[in-house]
Amino acid sequence: MGYGSSLIMRGIGKSFAGVHALKEVDFEVRSGEIHALLGANGAGKSTLMKILSGAYTSDSGSIEIDGKTIQVRTPGDAKASGIHCVYQEVDTALVPHLTVTENIMLDRISSPGSRHFLGWKAFHQEAEAVLRRLDSPIPVRKRVSELTLAEKQLVLVARLLTEQAKFVIFDEPTAPLSLEEAERLFRVMRQLRDDGIGCIFITHRLPEVFEMCDRITVMRDGERVLTEDKQETDMDGVIQAMLGRSFEQEFPKAEAEIGSIVLEVKGLTASRMTASRTVQDVSFSVKKGEIVAIVGLVGAGKTELSRLLFGADAVDSGEVRVNGTRMNLSQPATAINGGIALVPEERRSQGILVSESVQRNLSLPILKLLSRFGFLSGSGEQGNASSVISRLGIKTPSPAQKTMYLSGGNQQKVAIGKWLNAGVDVFLFDEPTKGVDIGAKSDIFRIIGELAQQGRGIVYLTCEFSEALGIADRILVMYDGRIVASFGRGETTQEQLLYYASGGGEGTA
Ligand code: ADP
Ligand code: MG
Repeated sequence: MGYGSSLIMRGIGKSFAGVHALKEVDFEVRSGEIHALLGANGAGKSTLMKILSGAYTSDSGSIEIDGKTIQVRTPGDAKASGIHCVYQEVDTALVPHLTVTENIMLDRISSPGSRHFLGWKAFHQEAEAVLRRLDSPIPVRKRVSELTLAEKQLVLVARLLTEQAKFVIFDEPTAPLSLEEAERLFRVMRQLRDDGIGCIFITHRLPEVFEMCDRITVMRDGERVLTEDKQETDMDGVIQAMLGRSFEQEFPKAEAEIGSIVLEVKGLTASRMTASRTVQDVSFSVKKGEIVAIVGLVGAGKTELSRLLFGADAVDSGEVRVNGTRMNLSQPATAINGGIALVPEERRSQGILVSESVQRNLSLPILKLLSRFGFLSGSGEQGNASSVISRLGIKTPSPAQKTMYLSGGNQQKVAIGKWLNAGVDVFLFDEPTKGVDIGAKSDIFRIIGELAQQGRGIVYLTCEFSEALGIADRILVMYDGRIVASFGRGETTQEQLLYYASGGGEGTA
């Protein structure tokens, strides 16, 4: 391998059914460097890296290593050129019921005839040696299914080392890791760099970038907008590049009368939740008619927080009050009866029943109200459905249409609409505009504004800072499971929000 090797992507273009995901992107990574690849959600980072690792093919452009053009049409092609990838979803790359050794040696063990000249003992020893080189003592005879996610990532790194990797892509590997686990992964990345491997590191946490990386490339809207040595730029410069001109997004905010406190959250804490994420000592309150946005990057803990408030996951400590009454935070039914509704991020799996009709979805939370003596009143259900459909402008050929055939934006309106007549005092919206078109987006903002005008308290969880700036009366910033900053309407900017959401306030508070 040797030092001084360089991999260059030139003029890479890629479209998906009309979405121009990459426009003439040039990108270079050198052996022996850690190169940060940054950009807001949707900037094109993953697409560029999927092209490099052979998961997608580009529409245009070329890839070369040390001046020689290489063809990368499949992941096998990429690996043959020494290009490997550590995705966040490590499980897809590992075989859970096989041992650590078997997973590290997977290629060689599965190649015919290998067992004739190398015994198991030698395999185990080699696996141990690689893990030792990474300073990661994982028992090699353990099954991979028994490992933590962080350990699985290390097994993947060990495997690519035995396969003579020259360039390694890390696509947001640290998002689900604890700080300690992330630190260990950083040591491993530095080790790879010192061994002359070129590392590409995608992350949303800017402090990591300035701690770890040698060079920084920023993408925005499918284009490369900045490549600099770390010393040549700073956090503000990178944030400016990620956001571009601060665009004035016109979401006219409906004026609502702010009343008494409707939701009060005190010291909410839950550890050891999915993917080792936590919610730490979160306190805030929401008044009637008030829209409180909680912003944070992917993995900050927003979805976890919304699930705790809704009673969908268990809390360790803390309390939630609605109109002064303390909630028993054990199950969603209690939250609903107590007046809290959640419009979840994963609406297709959690917010609506896609194979049921629009009408039935809209009546689910109020089946009791619509029933007499235990029988559902058909006309009551129809009446409720048609009033909600027209109020929210849900585009459906009929109330009987199966919800799965609606567009994403209209499905979202159904997920919201089912709560409209359910006597709810507090609405939790988790990324409500994700994957919806611009028309539905403005409808959703209008609906939320109306709910506030009716005196409902709104919690709006989003990673879109511009939306929070447009819609919220107050903005709380979440980072690593905590609220790290709070601003009134008009008191902050996208730059400042991104600064806090990326951990920029750590240690200064
Ligand atoms: P990033 O990783 O920077 O968040 P992505 O590369 O995932 O960005 O996405 C870039 C753009 O390409 C986005 O608009 C995204 O919606 C689109 N995109 C990515 N993958 C696909 C796909 N498989 N099908 C359709 N659109 C896609
Ligand atoms: Mg991505």
